[in-house]
Amino acid sequence: MRDGDLLTIALPASAGAVLDRLAAAGHDAALVGGSVRDLVSGWVPKDWDVATSAPPEEVSALFPGSTWENRFGTVTVRGEGPDVQVTTFRSEGPYRDRRRPTRVTWGRSLDDDLARRDFTVNAIAWRPTDLPSGEGRLVDPHRGISDMERRVLRAVGDPELRLTEDALRMVRAARFAGRLGLHIADETATVIRRHATESAALSGERVRDELLRMLEAPDPQRPPSAALRLLEELGLMAVLLPELAALRGVPQAKALAGDALDHSLRTTDALPADRPLLRLAGLLHDLGKATTLADGHFIGHEVAGAELAAAVADRLRLPRADARWIERLVRQHMFAYTPEWTDAAVRRFIRRVGADLLDDLFALRAADNAASGVLRPASAGLDELQARIAEVRASGPLGQEGLAVDGNDLTAGLGIEPGPVVGELLGRLLEAVLDDPSLNSRERLLQLASTWLAERGAGGHRQADPPNGPATAGDGPAATIGDPGAVPR
Ligand code: ATP
Ligand code: MG
Repeated sequence: MRDGDLLTIALPASAGAVLDRLAAAGHDAALVGGSVRDLVSGWVPKDWDVATSAPPEEVSALFPGSTWENRFGTVTVRGEGPDVQVTTFRSEGPYRDRRRPTRVTWGRSLDDDLARRDFTVNAIAWRPTDLPSGEGRLVDPHRGISDMERRVLRAVGDPELRLTEDALRMVRAARFAGRLGLHIADETATVIRRHATESAALSGERVRDELLRMLEAPDPQRPPSAALRLLEELGLMAVLLPELAALRGVPQAKALAGDALDHSLRTTDALPADRPLLRLAGLLHDLGKATTLADGHFIGHEVAGAELAAAVADRLRLPRADARWIERLVRQHMFAYTPEWTDAAVRRFIRRVGADLLDDLFALRAADNAASGVLRPASAGLDELQARIAEVRASGPLGQEGLAVDGNDLTAGLGIEPGPVVGELLGRLLEAVLDDPSLNSRERLLQLASTWLAERGAGGHRQADPPNGPATAGDGPAATIGDPGAVPR
């Protein structure tokens, strides 16, 4: 296939209708970008993008109910089949700060529009000749089809110009090469290496969106690590994710060879493709190893790592809730289960981790195990802990809300004023019930509380809190090894 060839495609009704109506109104309109790249490769496109000579106002007027999203004039049209993104031909204005165009100029023609696109494989268009039969002609002035066939990713036009006017294109190069299995053309790669430090000026949001799209890689043959390794090789990881790049060369005593960065990449790959944020947590889970290396055992690396991961997430402008969730996963990933754990220890573990985090924490740990070369039967401890969690969750309360008494019961039943003492009593009651769920009746709890209150009044000392769940120890996942030091009460 080449420029000017006819190609018949299975066009979804929604995309066909958009092309049809634009043409009927006298505008030039063609499929462009990822959808055409996918079509010439014989893949089914996931997005349908149309470029047109019609200005955005006119596009939205032609399609009632469509939404006009941003100042770049992308209009989303919903219809039968997938959404269609319609973009007015552009020839971008100058970039002042290598971050985003200072202004967008509408282009005159499809050729203008293709010339401002990033890579040749993304600069192919398909212009309909007979819509009902799905027939159209390929427009490929930059020889993107041939590059796709030869599996090469090449900047459109002058790579120096193309890659420096928007630094995000360097990051996108790693994404496309990794996800599509392309080799980055030498000249393109050389320019990226030369200008990699300029990616520091990119906004966190734009880097985040590219990173998450790398992490969405659905094809196990081309896992996210392919793009991430390219980020490293091109010198972009050291600029954008220095905490991660610092794991290169940090030694690991694991069954699988490689350093802490190799291990992190393997962990990411082992997580599900439809959970890009969980994959990000996997990528960041061992960041603390670079800073705790000195002690030889990475003691406390999950604490240092949680802080580093939170800093990365904030820098990438992740929503607050997502950033805290990643921080918690990293913080908790080193639990060390052994069969000696009592039910009370299992309940404390659930309380410490938070019931809402358990499923994701186990998924992360399973990936961590797989990426460490920890195989069955050693990894069976994880399943056992999960089974025991299900049991104890059914057998008694895990939080104050499950207690048979609340604050009002205590003030009324014991004749005390509301205040900090009530909170303290509820905390102690919960500890008691975690140890022995059979205590969880109104009568027993009021009795216990009144005894404690009497001790307090008599100047008795409050007991020390029981140890807060299992300690963590050692380096790798420890759900696998019996570590007597880690046995909680
Ligand atoms: P995917 O299938 O992963 O969505 P895509 O090719 O559709 O791939 P997008 O990021 O959705 O990639 O961008 C759509 C098209 O817009 C690209 O194919 C490219 O032609 C153009 N494009 C997007 N961002 C840029 C950019 N920063 N510089 C130049 N062209 C860009
Ligand atoms: Mg797209």
